[in-house]
Amino acid sequence: MTQQQRSTAQWRELDAAHHLHPFTDTASLNEQGVRMITHADGIYLWDSEGNKITDGMAGLWCVNIGYGRKDLSEVAKRQMDELAYYNTFFKTSHPAVVELSHLLAQVAPAGFDHVFYTNSGSESVDTMIRMVRRYWDVKGKPQKKTLIGRWNGYHGSTIGGASLGGMTYMHEQGELPIPGIAHIEQPWYYKHGKDMTPEEFGVAAARWLEDKILEIGADKVAAFVGEPIQGAGGVIIPPSTYWPEIERICRKYDILLVADEVICGFGRTGEWFGQQHFGFKPDIFTTAKGLSSGYLPIGAVFVGNDVAATIAAGGDFNHGFTYSGHPVAAAVAHANVKALRDEGIVQRVKEETGPYMQQRWRETFGQFEHVDDVRGVGLIQAFTLVKNKATRELFDNWGEMGTMCRDIFFGNNLIMRACGDHMVSAPPLVITKAEIDTMLGTAAR
Ligand code: PLP
Repeated sequence: MTQQQRSTAQWRELDAAHHLHPFTDTASLNEQGVRMITHADGIYLWDSEGNKITDGMAGLWCVNIGYGRKDLSEVAKRQMDELAYYNTFFKTSHPAVVELSHLLAQVAPAGFDHVFYTNSGSESVDTMIRMVRRYWDVKGKPQKKTLIGRWNGYHGSTIGGASLGGMTYMHEQGELPIPGIAHIEQPWYYKHGKDMTPEEFGVAAARWLEDKILEIGADKVAAFVGEPIQGAGGVIIPPSTYWPEIERICRKYDILLVADEVICGFGRTGEWFGQQHFGFKPDIFTTAKGLSSGYLPIGAVFVGNDVAATIAAGGDFNHGFTYSGHPVAAAVAHANVKALRDEGIVQRVKEETGPYMQQRWRETFGQFEHVDDVRGVGLIQAFTLVKNKATRELFDNWGEMGTMCRDIFFGNNLIMRACGDHMVSAPPLVITKAEIDTMLGTAAR
């Protein structure tokens, strides 16, 4: 392997010389130098200096099946030998994409018999935006254009995805959001629901959507889009009453409901999709990450039957990517989803490892003076670093404590992420109970 021919110092130098990293302050990175990750297995990574690192984030919330699955690399090789590439634009298809579509229709909730392929979560979101607007055009209501997202929601880095997302530090770069996007507050009970029960707050937070629809005018609103659990926004888990109320409001005002399942999809919550955990039914949902467990880039937009029929009735849908339904990515995604199902991995998250993680997570972190709102579902969990638990006061420089905490974990060879002062974790779904104990033991050290 070429990697082994250089020293860590040489790699760092070359990286600093030629590589611009995503979401990174290049100057400070180059001062410290990167950590070179060279190989991985199960829930573990190894760096070029031989350190074994526990990946409490499944990469970027994506390696659901865990690292090192040789069966997936063999599928990739076979498919590459047989048909490395062909597209699905002009009256052609291929077995890999057909098999994947068939399997996805089986694992999806009822009523989602069609998928549209992309290469990433961001592309899935942009595809969804264009599809939603096309839907209303075909329905004869072209003025319904506005999509409503949430502050601190994350829907990717493309111009559409970053606009729909509610990360203001992203909006500040590149004159975002684009026209036709609005936001409402995130359903963060700990911060916004102090005088209410969680159930009361869930309904109240959903009504912010109704207020926004009435402000814009229902005849101009195309869709509401939300992650079932906000991931990069800090693992914000809405109360049980939130999503049913959101669904009721969308139906009342004839607005499409879209779930961004890029993180929640493919077993993260213990259900196949986050919408099933919260008991609501969107019209469209976007996916990527866990679809292939990150082994190859692929995303899919699941299109409900009514939307699919409408788009089809409109003739050409002028949208697609050179690699939509790429045969190698599709074959690997198929093998991945089949394994998640046939090996009972999603089931195990629901019945065994998810509940165990949640119990141990609370036991481990609940005891600390500056840790509060210890929370989680399935294998996605978080806590928040706070100044004062009794008053729910947050630290003054939001994110500073989180970054410090993350760096301490990283120094101890454990990867967790800081989303502001929310410390979050989402390990591979194959993590065992013993590995959960070891991981939390390291974290509490
Ligand atoms: N949507 C959600 C909910 C995400 O969490 C992400 C990425 O983290 C995206 C979309 C964008 O996905 P990608 O980075 O694959 O473009």
